[in-house]
Amino acid sequence: MRRQPAPEPSGDDAGPSLPGLGPAAGKDAPEPAAHLLADTSRKFSPSKLDTYRDCPRRYRFRYVDGLRRRVETVETLLGSCVHKALEELYAGLIHGREYTLEETLAVFDREWAAGWSDAVVNRRKEYGPEHHQAAGRDGVRAYFKAFAPFRQDTTVAVEKRLGFSMKVGDEEVRIEGLVDRLAKVAEGIYEVHDYKTTANLPGQAELDEDWQLAIYDIAIRENWPDAREVGLVWHFVRFGQTMRSLRAAEGRERLKGELAALILAIRHDHVFAPRRSALCDWCEYRDICPLWQPAPKEGAALAKEYALQEGKRRELRSKLHELEAGLREIEEDIVRYATAHGLESLCGPEGDVTISQKDDYHVPTRTSAPELYSRIEAMLKDTPIWRQAAHIDLHRLLQGYDRGEWDAAGMEAVRGVVSEFGAHIKRIRKAAVRWHHRKTEEPE
Ligand code: SF4
Repeated sequence: MRRQPAPEPSGDDAGPSLPGLGPAAGKDAPEPAAHLLADTSRKFSPSKLDTYRDCPRRYRFRYVDGLRRRVETVETLLGSCVHKALEELYAGLIHGREYTLEETLAVFDREWAAGWSDAVVNRRKEYGPEHHQAAGRDGVRAYFKAFAPFRQDTTVAVEKRLGFSMKVGDEEVRIEGLVDRLAKVAEGIYEVHDYKTTANLPGQAELDEDWQLAIYDIAIRENWPDAREVGLVWHFVRFGQTMRSLRAAEGRERLKGELAALILAIRHDHVFAPRRSALCDWCEYRDICPLWQPAPKEGAALAKEYALQEGKRRELRSKLHELEAGLREIEEDIVRYATAHGLESLCGPEGDVTISQKDDYHVPTRTSAPELYSRIEAMLKDTPIWRQAAHIDLHRLLQGYDRGEWDAAGMEAVRGVVSEFGAHIKRIRKAAVRWHHRKTEEPE
């Protein structure tokens, strides 16, 4: 992976420089970065894009800094052994050899024996390697029994590299990954099969939104123009369950747009901010991640003090919520009583409570009902009232620019606004402090 040559110092490492916009300012603005990091790769796999979505800093470590680390866990070993067993099974069929169940399990066992060592990380101590191996064998057995003699379709390829090219901004990028199995069901009907060994079974809605196999759907249609239908098939081997999904043409177009937006966001990212999540417990870069460095004594004391104050604040806030709930109940009683008696004020020994009533609207908003909101917006856009009621969200415009969310004309328009009015706009670095209760045990 290449790193972009260091550009002229911009005075800020928070995003692409905008003409006419001053450097980062603010009370505690950090020192300018020595150079801007950037990912200039032109090839993206679904897992690479997922890495960025999960945590930009992990993406940076792996794909920008080129720190290739692989931690073999008992779960990844189980996954690769199941994949290998099913790969050999179907590769055998392509060449006219039918594997028996025993032979297929023997491939699994061979791979397990070759891959297992004390270096394989097993964080769930309550399950030993023998439990994981047994779960993998059960999965292979269940799959075999469900599909033997494997004549539902014709296997076209196993472990096949599939991809397509697309324009992102001015660049041509390639999206490409490895398909577990590609099959032809009938003339013009293909299926892409993916083996999953996770211990969780997702819901159908989640799979209908999944983009990994949908990417292969686009790739298959580009590589085999006769493809008029592409089925997306997941085999959750631990559960002996097969789940399917289909993507309509609009869904594929939308996906292309989402991919382009994500790649543009990666292109414009110069910070690659770490994103703390449950995945940190499994992250191979945790020892060098800025979020997980042990603080020196003084810093640890500050964190302790913060935790103490934060704990008090949460306690008070929950009391405040209780109080507010109580007040709301009394308010409802007051309004009911005043309405029933035609009163606008209740006089008490220590003061009066006045009641005023007015009509208001409860409306769909951009956040509460985005689809409905954009339909209303589209309906009003070409009417004269639009110019009177609509307003520009400059903050959103600039953030979208930083993330590369706008198309070329939009990016140009923002640059124009900033070059004209940049003297009135300042980029400010704000610090956010959050407390995270430590729930998980430290990994070895
Ligand atoms: S430890 Fe967590 S925040 Fe840090 S790089 Fe890994 S996933 Fe990201």
